[in-house]
Amino acid sequence: MTATPDVTSVGIVGGSLAGLFHAVALTGLGLDVDVWERSTGRPDDRGAGIVLQPGVAWFLREFCGVDPDRVSVPVTHRQFFTGDGNVRIMPMRQRMISWGTIYQALRDVLPAERYHDGQPVTALVPSAAGATVHVGEAARAVDLAIIADGSASRHRGLVTPDGAPRYAGYVAYRGVVDEADLPKELVARFDDRFSFWDGDRSQFLCYFIPGDFGTTATGRRRMNWVWYTRADRPELARVTTDRNGTRHGLSLPPGLLAPQVRTDLLARARSTLPPPLCHLVEHTAEPFVQAILDARATRMRNHRILLTGDAAFVVRPHTAASTEKAAADAITLFQALRQAPSADTALQTWERLRLAEGTAIHDQGVGLGRRLGLDGPDAAAAADGRTGKEP
Ligand SMILES: Cc1cc2nc3c(=O)[nH]c(=O)nc-3n(C[C@H](O)[C@H](O)[C@H](O)COP(=O)(O)OP(=O)(O)OC[C@H]3O[C@@H](n4cnc5c(N)ncnc54)[C@H](O)[C@@H]3O)c2cc1C
Repeated sequence: MTATPDVTSVGIVGGSLAGLFHAVALTGLGLDVDVWERSTGRPDDRGAGIVLQPGVAWFLREFCGVDPDRVSVPVTHRQFFTGDGNVRIMPMRQRMISWGTIYQALRDVLPAERYHDGQPVTALVPSAAGATVHVGEAARAVDLAIIADGSASRHRGLVTPDGAPRYAGYVAYRGVVDEADLPKELVARFDDRFSFWDGDRSQFLCYFIPGDFGTTATGRRRMNWVWYTRADRPELARVTTDRNGTRHGLSLPPGLLAPQVRTDLLARARSTLPPPLCHLVEHTAEPFVQAILDARATRMRNHRILLTGDAAFVVRPHTAASTEKAAADAITLFQALRQAPSADTALQTWERLRLAEGTAIHDQGVGLGRRLGLDGPDAAAAADGRTGKEP
């Protein structure tokens, strides 16, 4: 397969899922692709559980040679815990995967020498022929540059005047527990189910995901839970300040939750959650926290520089569509470059399609958050187009 003749080299800023989807797809077109990633080694399994959507499944099969059914956990029903202690069940087939499983599948097919970890891109400079990627003292000219440096993107301003993330007014407490560490009756309660509970301006959900190395064998899976709850700015600052007093701002990785925040979380779980869900929180050794953000780009392309993944749109996790969106950015680019007569035509088409979809998913996520009563005042102002404070 070949791309348009006026693009042969590609530089990607950020080597998480969005960066890797693009790297693998464009390598598949025969392009000369390099990825620069700031962190060293394997990044944290931040997203933990991910609902496997069709585009990601297709990508795994077509580009990674991985059977998505082998590395994901099926559920056949949704179950809704109700206030009176009952459970309502409805059929709904889905598959659940983990961030780490997708990441590993992508890394396995990308030539190792093309992934430059521990190398932050310090500047990206547009040029008539493409862009120059600067990594410290080194500089590399490429025909096409792709910004995939996530929600806190430092390079987004090269492409879009807006799109800086805003705090939506609530956080997700998250937890991952080895199935082997859960009592058998609790496993039975959640097996084959995508479970939900809606509370007062609060929502809890959980499902099983693969364990190490993508294993889906019963007994070796992991339980993944997410608990959305309102948090004003002082509370956000409190829960993301770690056990040593260091402020992390918008998230707190596993293992660092301050003892008092953990005590408060357990107390709230015991007083509000249905018992099986509360037990999951109690069995979680290292809960972690992520602020929910909104970000919406109004442009995704500046000549030969593209903005993708969370750097372009941060969508609410209720849509279960962020990873799918990142994969679709890459698949659409692959198709556009393969079919269009010139790179400029391909990139124009790509931007039109991806802006429309990103905007739709973003707005859908804001609507879902509002319907659950989770939004804070700044988020409402932002969604209405009025000025909201940045996080
Ligand atoms: C609470 C929460 C729940 C979520 N749940 C889901 C879910 O259920 N389903 C789903 O699909 N998605 C979910 N996601 C989102 C999902 O994890 C991301 O959308 C997806 O991984 C794409 O992210 P990304 O690669 O664009 O950005 P990121 O994963 O943020 O990656 C950006 C990368 O760029 C690197 N970087 C930054 N600056 C530089 C630089 N200057 N030079 C080089 N590298 C740099 C960073 O180190 C990082 O590796 C969730 C997210 C949150 C916050």
